[in-house]
Amino acid sequence: MIYFDNSATTFVSEAVRAKILELTDDTVSANPGSLHKLGTKAAELYEGIRKDTASLLGAKNEEIFFTSCATESANTAIKGYMSRNKRAGNAVISTRTEHKATLECLEYLSKLGYEIRYVKVGPDGKPVIESLEEELNKGGVALACFTLVNNETGSVLPFGEISKTVKALSPSTAIYLDCVQALGKMPINLSSFGADMCSFSGHKIHSVKGNGVLYVKKGVRIDPLILGGGQQEGMRSGTQSPVLAGAFLAALKEVSSGIEEAAAKTAEINAYLRKELADRDAIILSPEDALPYVLNVSFKGFESETMLHCLEIYDIYVSTVSACSSKAKKVSYVLLESGVDRKVAANAVRLSFSRYNTMEEAEEFIRRVDEIYEQFLLK
Ligand code: PLP
Repeated sequence: MIYFDNSATTFVSEAVRAKILELTDDTVSANPGSLHKLGTKAAELYEGIRKDTASLLGAKNEEIFFTSCATESANTAIKGYMSRNKRAGNAVISTRTEHKATLECLEYLSKLGYEIRYVKVGPDGKPVIESLEEELNKGGVALACFTLVNNETGSVLPFGEISKTVKALSPSTAIYLDCVQALGKMPINLSSFGADMCSFSGHKIHSVKGNGVLYVKKGVRIDPLILGGGQQEGMRSGTQSPVLAGAFLAALKEVSSGIEEAAAKTAEINAYLRKELADRDAIILSPEDALPYVLNVSFKGFESETMLHCLEIYDIYVSTVSACSSKAKKVSYVLLESGVDRKVAANAVRLSFSRYNTMEEAEEFIRRVDEIYEQFLLK
């Protein structure tokens, strides 16, 4: 099997499996909110996991909250910020190439009467600075929402430039950053980052599904999305799960080491595939300076889904548009917004790698593409 669909989800690592087994032991399975000694032990364990997670992300303990997924983190950050900071302004700025986790929150806010202003993106998928300046200069911007690495193209946000522009033209605007596809693939130190809120997802870094993290910078006030027993300082009610938080931490530990070496290896695989596919008349849609973990490519003569199923015959797995919306059989809105021709976008396939993919797999992939072209196209 060749699994090139790591932006959709990753396989669970051995370390995560082992950690889950360890943390489901009866001795650590009490409710962290219980007053007896087993509860105290579970609470200590949970706080220890939180502390280590915060430390690996360069954050303070009290800035880290465990959620069920990045979608929940995004909902909490975006809706919670706007709900809590009504006097900060009535406008939110973002781009139309965000993940649905952000776009649907913005749609929800617009129905509540907030003004959503979309900044234009260029062919490289990055926000156009003049357009950002224009939207900021209209005033009243409470929140800016961006994504560090686009999940469909790998386009990397020039976050330094963006945050500098936001802070210069609208100092009171808070910034929410989706860091889902960046985690473990580029260094992230939240203390010096410049974002006020960030979301992360465990299942994109070889943890199981069902665990995410929300970072809220100290001093930033947001309303909770989930109300109840007041766990996690009232930010996210619901009995804490040391198992899921521990699984996230185990995965984070693994992907936090050797980031540069893994990126260099992936860059080699990416460069090889770019060249070989371009030689076969495929159109490379990921920008040149995209993160090497994502390669979006349009195959001539094959609609996205046809190519996906052809590859599947050979036990090779890729995506069409992002997995969350692929069942709707839509052409990628991210590619269309970046100016890609609809026909080219309709043939786009996303290859996405993890640090565990190899050059041998890339070579095998190309051999199979050749076979597919021979069998299906030339007849
Ligand atoms: N943001 C980005 C960029 C993503 O790629 C994804 C998942 O595809 C999400 C958010 C949502 O993550 P989760 O599945 O943890 O809700």
